[in-house]
Amino acid sequence: MANLCPECDNPLHIDVDEVDAGEMVTCDECGMELEIVSLDPLELAPVETEGYDDEDLVRDDDEDEDA
Ligand SMILES: [Zn+2]
Repeated sequence: MANLCPECDNPLHIDVDEVDAGEMVTCDECGMELEIVSLDPLELAPVETEGYDDEDLVRDDDEDEDA
């Protein structure tokens, strides 16, 4: 069963043998950070980034050449 990114519905490939509850994973597609809240069954929760500045998030995406 694939876990989908709650932000962009990208299938996340998480090997439960490689991760622990409480760890963060990042969506390859949108860069969203997700916390692993449970391993069995695998459950993810979006990391609350309230209070964060948006600046760091935007910096990753350098492809907006709206020509
Ligand atoms: Zn995503």
